[in-house]
Order: sequence, then C-alpha cells, then structure tokens
Amino acid sequence: MLAKKLPFCKEKLEEICGNHPTPFHIYDEKAMLDNAQKFIDAFSWNEGFKEYYAIKAAPNPFLMKLLYDKGFGIDCSSMAELLLAEKVGIRGEDIMFTSNDTPAEEYHKAMELGAIINLDDIKHIEYLEKHCGLPDLLSFRYNPGALKGGNIIIGNPEDSKYGFTREQLFEGYKMAKEKGLKRFGIHTMVASNELDSDYFIETAEIIFDLIVDIAKELDIKFEFANLGGGIGIPYKNEHKPVDLNHVSKGIRDLYEKMIVANGLAPLKIYFESGRAITGPYGYLVSKVLHIKETYKKYAGLDSCMANLMRPALYGAYHHITVVGKEDMPHKYLYDVTGSLCENNDKFAINRLLPEIEPDDLIVIHDTGAHGHSMGFNYNGKLRSAELLLRENGDVVEIRRAETYEDLYATVDFDSAANFE
Ligand SMILES: *Cc1c(COP(=O)(O)O)cnc(C)c1O
Repeated sequence: MLAKKLPFCKEKLEEICGNHPTPFHIYDEKAMLDNAQKFIDAFSWNEGFKEYYAIKAAPNPFLMKLLYDKGFGIDCSSMAELLLAEKVGIRGEDIMFTSNDTPAEEYHKAMELGAIINLDDIKHIEYLEKHCGLPDLLSFRYNPGALKGGNIIIGNPEDSKYGFTREQLFEGYKMAKEKGLKRFGIHTMVASNELDSDYFIETAEIIFDLIVDIAKELDIKFEFANLGGGIGIPYKNEHKPVDLNHVSKGIRDLYEKMIVANGLAPLKIYFESGRAITGPYGYLVSKVLHIKETYKKYAGLDSCMANLMRPALYGAYHHITVVGKEDMPHKYLYDVTGSLCENNDKFAINRLLPEIEPDDLIVIHDTGAHGHSMGFNYNGKLRSAELLLRENGDVVEIRRAETYEDLYATVDFDSAANFE
C-alpha cells in the first residue's frame, strides 16, 4: 500500500499551528503547480490547449492567480465566480462560463467580461439574444444520454439536468449560424471523480464524432472541444491517479484520425477540471478536542462537516493522518466526528487508526477541492482560514477565518431589540 504523504513534518505543522489556530485548510503550492505543469506538458502537442480551472473547487484568488500565471483559464458557473475572476484580473476568453438555469444578469456579466459562453439549453440561445444580444462565439453543452454511463456524483446522463440532446445540438448550431455566428465550440461533461483514464478518451471520441457530423451537415467550423472536468483523484491509498499522458496520447490518436483526416484541424482541446487541479494539494488540519467511548469510540475534532462536507454528503472517503503516529499500529476503530448537532457530522466511520488522544493533530487529506468551498454556517459554525505553504516553506494566510461579526453581519440587532 502506498502511504499518503504530508508536505510538512510534525514539527513544521506544530510551528504553523502556533501561528494559525486550527482548524484550517492548507494548500501545497509546489505540488499544485508541478501537477499543473504536467497537465500542460501532457497536451503540448495541441496548439491552443487550455485547462480552465473550475473555481468552484477552491474559489480562492491566490490559487486562481497562481494557476492563471501558469497559463490556465478559469471556469465559472455563477455570478460570484465571474466577479472573482474579474477581481483577479482575468477577462475575455480566459474565462469559460459554463452555467445552467442561468439568470440574465449572469449572462450580462459574462458578456461584459468577454467570457466564452457555454450554453446548457437550446432555449438559452434566444434567451441570451433577448437579454444581452449574441456574442460572436458560442459553445453548447452536450448530454449524450444513454450513450454514456455516469457515476454516483453526477448520475446517469439521461437523468442529468445538463446539456443539449444530439438533435438539439444540430438545431442549435444551425440556429446560431443563421443568426450570424461564426465561431463555435462544443462541450460535454458526463463524469465526476472518474479514475478510469480511458473514460476521457471515449469522451473525446464521442465529441469528435459529433464535430465531424455537425461540421459536415451545417458547414461550420469548430474552434474548440471542451472535454469538461470530472478527472478523479486517488482519495484512497490503493487508487491510481488518472494517467494524463495516456489520456493525451489516446486523444491525440483520435484527433489525427477524426479531426485532421476530415480537414477539421486545428481544433483546440480544453478541459475544465477542478478536483484534479487542487484536490490532492489541500489538507484540513484539526486538533482533537475529546475522545469519547460509548458503544463505539469517537474522536471529536475542532472542525466539523461545515469545513468538509464530502464525507457526510456523498459518504466520500478522505484519508486521515494522526500526525506523529503514522508508524504506530492502526488497530483502534474510530468514528472521527465534528460537533454539529447532526449525527452524520463524521469525517470517517469505523476507521482503523492509531490510538488518538486529546490535542493530537489530525490531518484530513485531499481537501483542496470542494472542501472549504462547500463550507456552510449551520449551527453557527465559522468557515476556517485558508493557508498556502509556499515552496520555500513560508506559510501565507490566503483567507482569514470568519468571525462572529461576519456571521451576524446580515442581521440588524438594534431593529430586533426594538421589534414587537
Ligand atoms: C464541477 C464542474 C466542473 C469541475 O468538475 P471537477 O469534478 O471538479 O473536475 C467542470 N465543469 C462544470 C460545468 C462543473 O459543473
């Protein structure tokens, strides 16, 4: 079994905790950027290749800036995410706007920023035109329906609320062409946290096939194929990461056979991955408050489901390290819990761990995506700080922890006091 490693030793973590109270999420800059470079290198054969980082995974301006400087774009799906991109200084076609059930004001903002607009529904062509006018480039999201199996997070494509059917795509591009558009993209995303490398090659095949058919029938040219996100990460020791070089090679072969051979090159390959970009490089650090023994053993932390919802929401596995006890026998069965008044507020159920004591430091792995960002304030829990571990060992606070003033900023206590 491969042991999951930490980017800091016990002494370093204790030093960090001396300056920053637990709980916090901490991101490993070097590992994140090394991986980003690998992604870019894997697809260097494709002129114009771009990964649009899906910022819902970890919408932190510092992380965005680092990735943007590496050459990534940003994938947004809401007003708040568009505003974040704007504040970081990202504009134009470095922003992909992949939304659904979209309010007109979000399209306005996306248009104002010059983002690439990726429509989720054929009716939105006219909705967009009516509210904002049409841009010169549009992309549509394809839902392949029964062609492709889904998984637990995203479900089966036929049950999925996203995207156009195949017929709607033909109709949609035809309509867009008739309305004078000249630039086209296509998108699909049917996986989430998928670890099978071949899955992404098959996705490319489905999309290239469509491009060939649509380009021929409608005599239009596609600029890009956005293959979506959904690249999984090895949450468990025994999981193998997606092999991006294998994915790239498979896609390149198909590109030669289908795109180049049909005179449809150049076609830019895009991804909009979130999880695979930051997920493995974030860690939730907590301290043990209490050990409780009833019918089971419980280790109660100073963090809770409001800091990391995935275990409670999806039953997701997150690896746990009891810092300094890595080499002790993992023979004690624990539920590792938070303090919410919800019995599913557990980071792990029946997990074999070394013997845990109060004040032990606990690191929960792979929290760099959909970790802090899924946070919420139930029971009045405050969202934690986010820290960045830099290459030289420095630690920078890239978001402070919320305060009770933040929590109550939206209520007017004076009015409440005088209310009858
Ligand atoms: C969530 C999402 C992504 C990113 O998914 P990951 O699993 O984090 O890679 C990309 N595109 C869209 C439209 C999404 O909703």
